[in-house]
Amino acid sequence: MNHKRRHHFKKLLLTELRRHVEHVNDEQARALDIANDDLKESSDAALRNVIQELALNLGDRESKAVADIDQALLRMKEGSYGLCVRCGHEIDERRLEALPTARYDAACQAEIEAKRGQGAGPSL
Ligand SMILES: [Zn+2]
Repeated sequence: MNHKRRHHFKKLLLTELRRHVEHVNDEQARALDIANDDLKESSDAALRNVIQELALNLGDRESKAVADIDQALLRMKEGSYGLCVRCGHEIDERRLEALPTARYDAACQAEIEAKRGQGAGPSL
């Protein structure tokens, strides 16, 4: 994945992030605005600090979603973003467009869900 594409997905992740944190306090919202306007690679650490602080102030559901975004940004920093964490294959970019936090490619996701389906009772 080239730099331009990575930048595109980073924006998607940050947009997603903002959706989850609409009801955080003004100060944190402002911090996020600054982070969002400044997408330079060097701002990653600061951005991740903001995210982690935000996660502490959110409910379970949002904080899980924010943690997923945080992990995706971390993979982006490490250069493994867009690769399936299970098999290492590239994740289809259309899949990433729909789900920018995707950890698995479609094949692995299907296998994981199939296994989960056979598990003990309903999960959730
Ligand atoms: Zn896979």
